[in-house]
Amino acid sequence: MSDCDNIEELLSGYLDGELTQQVRQRVELHLDGCDGCRRTFDELRSIREGISGLETPEPTPEQWSRMMSTIASKTSRGVGWTIGIAGGALLAGFAAYEFAIDDSVDRLVKIGLAAVVGGAALLLLSVLVDRLRARKSDRYKDVEI
Ligand SMILES: [Zn+2]
Repeated sequence: MSDCDNIEELLSGYLDGELTQQVRQRVELHLDGCDGCRRTFDELRSIREGISGLETPEPTPEQWSRMMSTIASKTSRGVGWTIGIAGGALLAGFAAYEFAIDDSVDRLVKIGLAAVVGGAALLLLSVLVDRLRARKSDRYKDVEI
């Protein structure tokens, strides 16, 4: 293993300040005299700085609890909507089915009712789709970091 390979392995620890003074000095000495490793080191450092620049600061406990309660209320509201809409659709479907198999009801009334139920089902579906879309898009809207 050449000296450069050795140094490259140490660069990460050097940037993190994990090396002993002796090893650190060895890395610095090599970087001063070796353009290749110097370049590698500069690239590594700029990557590290890029990453740490993107990192969001750790939220405070207060921010955490606010965030969690926002998520919790959104989730329970979404689940409530979904269950309610599904239940309503099931009931409407069942009622329509009962009505449709009843021979004493006029066919015209059945067709009219089918249109009403079908329209209501479409409305429910559109509401459901809107809810799902809204949940997806505003998941992070109220979260302040
Ligand atoms: Zn080198």
